[in-house]
Amino acid sequence: MTPLALYIHWPFCKSKCPYCDFNSHVRERIDEPRWRAALLAELDHWAPALMDRELVSIFFGGGTPSLMAPATAAALIDRAAQHWPEARDLEITLEANPTSVEASRFAELRAAGVNRVSLGAQALDDASLKFLGRGHNAREARDAVGLASRLFDRFSFDLIYARPEQTLAAWRDELKAALAMAGHHLSLYQLTIEAGTAFATAFARGDFRLPDEETQGALYEATQETLAAAGLPAYEISNHARPGEECRHNLVYWRYQDYLGIGPGAHGRLTLGAEKRALKNFRAPETWLGAVERAGQGQEETLLLTAQERRDEMLMMGLRLREGIARDAFRGETGQDFEAALDTARLAGLCEAGFLALEAGGLRATPAGRQRLNAVLGALLA
Ligand code: SF4
Repeated sequence: MTPLALYIHWPFCKSKCPYCDFNSHVRERIDEPRWRAALLAELDHWAPALMDRELVSIFFGGGTPSLMAPATAAALIDRAAQHWPEARDLEITLEANPTSVEASRFAELRAAGVNRVSLGAQALDDASLKFLGRGHNAREARDAVGLASRLFDRFSFDLIYARPEQTLAAWRDELKAALAMAGHHLSLYQLTIEAGTAFATAFARGDFRLPDEETQGALYEATQETLAAAGLPAYEISNHARPGEECRHNLVYWRYQDYLGIGPGAHGRLTLGAEKRALKNFRAPETWLGAVERAGQGQEETLLLTAQERRDEMLMMGLRLREGIARDAFRGETGQDFEAALDTARLAGLCEAGFLALEAGGLRATPAGRQRLNAVLGALLA
């Protein structure tokens, strides 16, 4: 049976973090029964086209899905189970913010079927959390991680580094503290300034500066070394896990397998017969809601991907992974081997420069290649 991952987007947050460019919105009131009905309707809409699939993962992302009533998560999990047979090790992840209010729902979420939580801790000191505009303090972050570790077999938390004024020594200390609290998975992201965010305006105004490129590189390298030494090597550019504890849902994206996206702004990639389609839902919550209430689904566009687009997307996703792209999977997706699908001189040049490694089993980016992946992809695919 072809595996299928299901992504469910809950687009609401208590407030907008200044660095965030996700599809997240603040609303005074949310008619949750209406939202629950719409998410269920969109799930029902897709089920007939996706028979003969095995459900390997459900991921509640956002926004802040920990603000969703646990009954809504339960209804969606139950409905998905009615539509598809579940893999024996079905992973059901929910992203949560570590405020005390949200942590108080963890037990109910677990009862609803959630078996993994991913917490947006982001930093472990109050001054940094304040700078990042977060609604929780360091004590709440530690308490929420502690509670998650007691309630869930699998949990992860995120930190953001390369913050203004952050020194290498301070980040090493923070990583040490994080590892003392961590389970088997950690996500460690470098702070980037995204267009259209409050940070983009403040940064342009000169309100703060980021560490220079050399320091950013040193922070990245310290992250890789420290986590590898602790037994949680990077399996993707920003994600670290003990072997076997990788986030299975995100592996579906990076391995370019099929996923269905439900909710505002959700994306999907679905193989239907010989075709692969890219699906994109309306981004604005109310536009999506209206479309689902009218037509049962909130798709803004569906594109039939060309062979070249499939090749490019698979490379963009797969080279993020330490394992790279398996030769068989690439041939299955594109109908060609790497040597035939890619420009020979560019591929050889990037291998000689030490950024890519082409082996019998597949193609992967080296650690140096993963550190500058956008440039490597630009050179490979230009
Ligand atoms: S809580 Fe998460 S999704 Fe919401 S605004 Fe902050 S970073 Fe964005």
